[in-house]
Amino acid sequence: MSNAAFIPFPSREIPYVRINGVLVDPQLWMTVYDCNVTTQNCHSMCCYRSNILAPGEADRIFPHMEGILPYMTPQKQKIFEKRGTFVADCRTQCPDGCELDGDEVLAMARAIDLESDYRCNEIVRQGGEGGEEMDSCIFLTKNDRMENVCSIHAYAIDQGMNWMALKPLDCVQYPLGVYNKDGETILRSQSTPYLSHLPCHDSGIGPLMYRSMEGTIRFLMGDDFFVALDHHVRSLGL
Ligand code: SF4
Repeated sequence: MSNAAFIPFPSREIPYVRINGVLVDPQLWMTVYDCNVTTQNCHSMCCYRSNILAPGEADRIFPHMEGILPYMTPQKQKIFEKRGTFVADCRTQCPDGCELDGDEVLAMARAIDLESDYRCNEIVRQGGEGGEEMDSCIFLTKNDRMENVCSIHAYAIDQGMNWMALKPLDCVQYPLGVYNKDGETILRSQSTPYLSHLPCHDSGIGPLMYRSMEGTIRFLMGDDFFVALDHHVRSLGL
């Protein structure tokens, strides 16, 4: 767990716009964005730090492990079978102290008790026994086209499940964050420095961020909110 001072999104002042009672970051319609491993040629780099697990998420995923395991790389299957869990041990994952950034912790603040002993998924380190090309989440694997993809996501799609309901919230919402502060609900984009170098943030490829994140916003905030957000952006002529 992080024990860093908790400073909400310290990186920039945001001229929020109130939409359906929610304070919304204009970056959502001022930035283009597309989470697409093929067009961004990103190798799913966002998974190099794994993710925070909200309470109950490990228990939600665990019953599916028999189905998820065949999607994982052989090395990661062995690590899971040896450890009996995909949840990281902080003492070995971050031996010099928690490496989570305040921004990524805040993005999960409505789902976790910041004072509690929360955990991340295991990170398998670059160049280990399995010859990993980069540090990566224990669930990061390769598809038939040798692209890096999430084995939970691939399993859920093949099972006809809603992948957003199975994957960790931290993964579903990135690069967005929803949190409550002083009685207000805030929806904004994350600016975690550990992830700001990812190709999707400056490639200029993709539709307006809120449009490419439509499914996620509807999942997190509801259909009525998305319709109001879309109406606001279209009223700006965008
Ligand atoms: S659970 Fe899946 S999406 Fe989340 S960090 Fe791991 S591989 Fe990436």
